[in-house]
Amino acid sequence: MSAVVTRFAPSPTGLLHIGHAHSALVGWRAAREAGGCFLLRLEDIDRARCRPGFAAAILRDLAWLGLDWDGAVRVQSEHFADYRAALDRLDALGLLYPCFCTRTAIRAEVTQAAAAPHGVDGALYPSTCRGLSLPERAARRKAGAAWALRLDVAKALALTGTLWWEDERAGRVAADPLRLGDVVLARKETPTSYHLAVTVDDALQGVSLVTRGEDLFAATHIHRLLQALLDLPVPRYRHHPLLVDAGGRRYAKRDRALSLSALRACGRTPQEVRAMAGFPEWAGS
Ligand code: GLU
Repeated sequence: MSAVVTRFAPSPTGLLHIGHAHSALVGWRAAREAGGCFLLRLEDIDRARCRPGFAAAILRDLAWLGLDWDGAVRVQSEHFADYRAALDRLDALGLLYPCFCTRTAIRAEVTQAAAAPHGVDGALYPSTCRGLSLPERAARRKAGAAWALRLDVAKALALTGTLWWEDERAGRVAADPLRLGDVVLARKETPTSYHLAVTVDDALQGVSLVTRGEDLFAATHIHRLLQALLDLPVPRYRHHPLLVDAGGRRYAKRDRALSLSALRACGRTPQEVRAMAGFPEWAGS
């Protein structure tokens, strides 16, 4: 059997909190117990929301927590050419179309259509721009309109046929990417999206087991489709339950008092914080 390779892939849009610590520890332990590799990746494609200060804080906080990672940290903003190449491949298959809808326009259209289908993140994009003619597309681009490139999911599925992935908790899962609709894979100002970058990177980095929170379970339907379209290897998945507070609420970046930096500043030890993050077995190490 080949070596287990896992990764932790935070976005430097804020400080790591106790929920992130849990997720990082899940991936780290899965790799270390199997004698495999644990990789770190900074998902900073959204240049408007990411800050270098947060990236530095992530590395510092993980090291303080006692986590070590193998090899260099992959910083997504340094690899736009890789995502561009994947996008070009999908484009050559005729699977992308430009969408000029604003969020407000999409919301308005969805509200109007009483029977509009709903996906995992609320209303599905109603594929408004899929039917635009080539001259219409050219005219809108020429007029300087903002655009996003969307994946024609139905057409893509017709190419790939039925797909599956192995999930360590959910078992064998049939991919159903239609439930996310025609997702955005790039924008005028950002030549990739989360879905594309994460799929390409997991393959390029040789990740064999994707460990991440179950809030990202639905995204895997699309990632599995992209893997098939781009001829990429299919990792196994472990979507772990999210750590919640005493009231059953999941932690978020707004919980400043539970950021690792804040916990360290108020005198908590790495052992105590690992225990708070659901790994008490290392509390004494
Ligand atoms: N960058 C994503 C986040 O911070 C995680 C991506 C992933 O694990 O697939 O939520």
